[in-house]
Amino acid sequence: MQDKQIYFVEHLLEWYKKNQRKLPFRETKDPYKIWVSEVMLQQTRVGAVINKIENKYLQFIERFPDIEILANSKTEEILELWSGLGYYNRAKNLHQTARIICEKYSGKFPDSYQDLIQLPGIGDYTASAILSIAFNKPYAVVDGNVKRLLFRFFYNELDQTYSEKGIKNLANELIHFPKVEPSEFNQSLMEMGALVCIYKYPKCNNCLISSYCSTKDFSKEEKLNIPPKSINPKKQIKIYIYIINKYNKLFIIKNQHLFLKNHYFFPYEIKEKKEHLEISDSPHTFLGNFKHNIMNYLFDAYIFLVNENKKNFTFYQQDKTESKWIEVSETKKYLYSSFAKKVLDLYNNSSSLF
Ligand code: SF4
Repeated sequence: MQDKQIYFVEHLLEWYKKNQRKLPFRETKDPYKIWVSEVMLQQTRVGAVINKIENKYLQFIERFPDIEILANSKTEEILELWSGLGYYNRAKNLHQTARIICEKYSGKFPDSYQDLIQLPGIGDYTASAILSIAFNKPYAVVDGNVKRLLFRFFYNELDQTYSEKGIKNLANELIHFPKVEPSEFNQSLMEMGALVCIYKYPKCNNCLISSYCSTKDFSKEEKLNIPPKSINPKKQIKIYIYIINKYNKLFIIKNQHLFLKNHYFFPYEIKEKKEHLEISDSPHTFLGNFKHNIMNYLFDAYIFLVNENKKNFTFYQQDKTESKWIEVSETKKYLYSSFAKKVLDLYNNSSSLF
């Protein structure tokens, strides 16, 4: 095992030196910028998506160049810039943590694991990324790419029932090898997982470490199952979303349930029954439908323009849900999630028909 580990570390670092992508957040050791980029990168590190994150990161750093400016900004402004990245609680946590660091640590990022994981939104992954990349401390970062690469390469040596703890222990062992720079090591693991040991299409024929890889000769189907897929498939939810427009104003609610919690959205109903929707039975104008993923949910969304002459929409006013009428020009301020934007796109495309 020891020889295989040495081989792995040496070849991984050699590969990284020649093949790492030039990304703006790689050119800094500023813990504030590393933190922002790692929170954004938690979604993915692959292909086209990383270009989107790169652009968002540059816009974010231009608007909030340091932690004090972020701490003193309005949450709405941060959410607006975060628009399209999803996981809006992460943006709120960034704001809250920036305030705590400014108040408790005079704006200086803590460099201890124990202090970091006390902060909102910072768990083991982000704390390890900040400590290793900004402060070069030996804390292994284990994201989906790293788990896949390590599990495939060391498949014969690891517990094949797959344990995340086993992967984390292995990564922590490797990062302590002599002459290993923690910052470089973590980034090289994530990068090789993202660019070579890809989930669906591992590039085994062009992989520098293939000679000792346990699974290089496995079939494509076998590799797809290493690590095994999550046993929790996405929960499918049928949702009816209602657009209520009066005198060029839109009615929105502060959502308290299930998804985008505490964010403004359109009034909606969750339909538990799985039967096909009878569009013609609806008292409202059907605008269209689409599917949308949010974390562990797959929404099957049906969008309606409410005809207030046929049915009054009073159910949201009756309960305690916070609601408001906004000008159509204010949608950017309140409806920044990609889910709300899809609904708005349908509405804007169809409003010319009425
Ligand atoms: S040989 Fe294939 S499976 Fe093994 S580490 Fe390289 S890309 Fe991944």
